Amino acid sequence: MEKFKIENVGKLESISRLMVKEKIDSTGCEVSINNIPKGTGSQFIHSHKLNEEVIIITKGRGTIYVDGDEISISEGSLIKLAPSVKRGFSASEDSDLQLICIQAAENSLTQATREDGIINREKASWFK
Ligand code: ZN
Repeated sequence: MEKFKIENVGKLESISRLMVKEKIDSTGCEVSINNIPKGTGSQFIHSHKLNEEVIIITKGRGTIYVDGDEISISEGSLIKLAPSVKRGFSASEDSDLQLICIQAAENSLTQATREDGIINREKASWFK
């Protein structure tokens, strides 16, 4: 497998649903880009077996269904959903809802940038 891969899928707002893994062969998490047209929403409520979902609302407004509650969300909303949480999304009547969903096994992140990152001595062309 390639050590790195770069793809450009164009304007994110023109994507209905895209599984990023299928484009760049990522192996540690599943990321999807989703656009829900205004006045519509998911037609089923779902949960997961193992995966936590992190949702980033990147554009628009709508509603999230979480375990029986319905909560307004909009650009900038950051959402964590444990696997068992029953969820669904809808866009508002006057605005599409664009979101990025990141799935990874719950509690699988054992270290983060501060512990896992390594500063290397190489220099890029833009370094001053
Ligand atoms: Zn899901």
